[in-house]
Amino acid sequence: MAYKNFTIETDADGIALVTWDMPGKSMNVVTEEVMDEIDAIVDQVVGDSAIKGAVITSGKNSFSGGADLSMIKSIFTLAEEEKARDPENAMQRIFDVAGRMTWLWRKLETCGKPWVSAINGTCMGGAFELSLACHARVVSNAKSVKLALPEVKVGVFPGAGGTQRVPRLTNAQDALQMMTTGQTLTPARAKAMGLVHQVVEPAELVPAAKQMIKDGLKPIAPWDEKGFKLPGGGIWTPQSAQLWPAAAGIMRRETHGNYPAALAILKCVYEGLQLPFDAGLRVEQRYFTEILQTTEAFSMIRSLFISMQELGKGARRPAGIEKTVLKKVGIVGAGFMGASIGYVSAAAGIEVVLVDRDIEAANKGKGVSEKLVADAIGKGRMTKDDGDKLLARITPAADYEGLRDVGLVIEAVFEDRAVKKAVIEAVEAVLPPDAILASNTSTLPISGLATYAKRPKQFIGVHFFSPVDKMMLTEMILGEETGDKALAAALDFVAAIRKTPIVVNDTRGFYVNRCVFRYINEGYDMLIDGVPAAMIENVAKMIGMPVGPLSLNDEIAIDLSQKIMKAQLADLGPGPGSVDPRHMELNDRMVDGLDRRGRKNGKGFYDYPPKPAKKSLWPGLKDFYPQKKADDVDIEEMKQRFLVTIALEAARTVDEGIVIDPREADVGSILGFGFAPYTGGTLSYIDGMGAATFVALCDRLAAKFGERFAVPPLLREMAEKGETFYGRFDPYAKKAAA
Ligand code: NAD
Repeated sequence: MAYKNFTIETDADGIALVTWDMPGKSMNVVTEEVMDEIDAIVDQVVGDSAIKGAVITSGKNSFSGGADLSMIKSIFTLAEEEKARDPENAMQRIFDVAGRMTWLWRKLETCGKPWVSAINGTCMGGAFELSLACHARVVSNAKSVKLALPEVKVGVFPGAGGTQRVPRLTNAQDALQMMTTGQTLTPARAKAMGLVHQVVEPAELVPAAKQMIKDGLKPIAPWDEKGFKLPGGGIWTPQSAQLWPAAAGIMRRETHGNYPAALAILKCVYEGLQLPFDAGLRVEQRYFTEILQTTEAFSMIRSLFISMQELGKGARRPAGIEKTVLKKVGIVGAGFMGASIGYVSAAAGIEVVLVDRDIEAANKGKGVSEKLVADAIGKGRMTKDDGDKLLARITPAADYEGLRDVGLVIEAVFEDRAVKKAVIEAVEAVLPPDAILASNTSTLPISGLATYAKRPKQFIGVHFFSPVDKMMLTEMILGEETGDKALAAALDFVAAIRKTPIVVNDTRGFYVNRCVFRYINEGYDMLIDGVPAAMIENVAKMIGMPVGPLSLNDEIAIDLSQKIMKAQLADLGPGPGSVDPRHMELNDRMVDGLDRRGRKNGKGFYDYPPKPAKKSLWPGLKDFYPQKKADDVDIEEMKQRFLVTIALEAARTVDEGIVIDPREADVGSILGFGFAPYTGGTLSYIDGMGAATFVALCDRLAAKFGERFAVPPLLREMAEKGETFYGRFDPYAKKAAA
């Protein structure tokens, strides 16, 4: 029988080698069609008496990334459509769809012939669950092989048997840890956990898998054998009595109840382990049906899976412009940011000329890469050879000669218009005519800087976030005159260094920093109102922010926020819509009065004692403002204030035409500053509760706290018409119309 996504070759020993190799795709994914074919293949293997057993492997350099985007999208659409069409039977339909993969993998597991999964490369999600349903797993020891059930990271959970098989193969604690964090396992770790049977050299993979069948591998899963015992003894043991109450507590501490899918994993494992296997699968299917209908799952999948991939693949790249392959880039300013931008570029195989005012400063910039390389080698994440090659790509320089043949220059010099002007002019004097000049400014409007350039069409903002090697986001800022070619080339560069781009129009603070400073300012307002600093920081974490506003301010540096406020005051003058004088006073007091500048000088809102001691809130803050009693603080309202002030600023950027695609607002907010990921991002947060509810919430907060919660006209109109951001600014409408 011929299949589209698989080939089957049966050898002289009667072992069928099923090779998964989807045409036209760089990675195998589980689609409806793939499931149909696996279904047929299982029938074929069972029906052909010449076949003794089967080995499933991949024809690509990875095994599979798991479920396909469009299939996941269609499940959500189906859920909505079914509820509208036939509410009575909708739940049954969603339940059936949710269980399709579960019962197909179960069919394979109980087909009566042995199956071995030969995992040659990364194997994730539904594909790892398929492998777990095979009777044995052999994994290549290649460095690139990663195994994971990462579903929780996008708001769902391993719902194709994962929550039932993993804790029947390994102890419940490791199983919970792996699935509730979406942790990636190396083959060695997976073997130590008992999830895989053998780890072998890549060339040995298929022979070893076949050998297991030849050696008489039983076509029965351990849990289908009589007398099967759970590793660790199951739920009703003294160890479990220690584990489960703590697990619930840890879950609460880590998620603050914001992630229903993480909790569902706990429930599936706890309930499933007390039941026969098939009943456990049905429990999992029920929770999966429930999770699929949560706003959290819908929003997280949309932003963190679908939109992130779409943006990464160039959703905003202007059409019809040839791809720019950058062999060499220039970076001017080898300081904190420039040095790290040099590192990520060289790590992507691009030659880098790293320019600073003198060669000592340029060398110091290269030193940052030397340290990062040494760290990576030390941790076994890079070979010495790769590290040497990476460093050889970075050429420090004190003049602009090396920029004569680059395709792109990024300036990362001091945040000072006069310095930037001089650099832009000097760079343009040597730059090839078609090269792009980008600025990494964090505050200066791009259109203003572009006036210093002779070729403003080729001038663009490419705003990186610190630490550059870890932060996934880059914000591309279009000046009034920035051309499509510059945008396309800048996006090609960002794709090459594997960052996710968002593209926004020019404004003070662009998108991300506008939102970030709203968050910090709300923290200031709470502090000024006398809310104890520890409560401010903890409430921020309760809503799912990675760090509190005061901690974030320390990371950014308080003298930097002071500088930004001063510049804003100089440009806008005092008054509403400008800097709040109480905020200015707080910053002046911290920086000028107390030299508390943040983490960089070891003292800010927190004290930073030498390691290993941990940072702690600076007690002196208590004396700044009369302190409220904890019982007098309205925690629910504080939670709303944080989320609303940020989301509202995001909505304003849409109202002003700064952000034009809701996917970018959402992805930018999560990757840029960790906005409560379970919401799906700033605009999904508003869409999730509905514009009318959001506007009512803002109006209530505005009545109590003032203009900063005033709603822009756009939101009021959306509330009246019952619109969502994804409906009104449908990112797919243009494509569909074209
Ligand atoms: P920095 O002070 O660490 O580095 C600036 C570097 O530019 C220094 O090494 C300096 O010697 C060099 N320089 C100054 N004038 C020069 C000239 N005429 N020619 C060549 N080199 C020159 O500053 P930074 O934090 O790296 O910031 C650089 C830029 O990045 C600024 O525009 C800043 O707003 C922006 N930015 C900073 C951050 C951040 O977190 N620090 C984040 C995003 C963007």
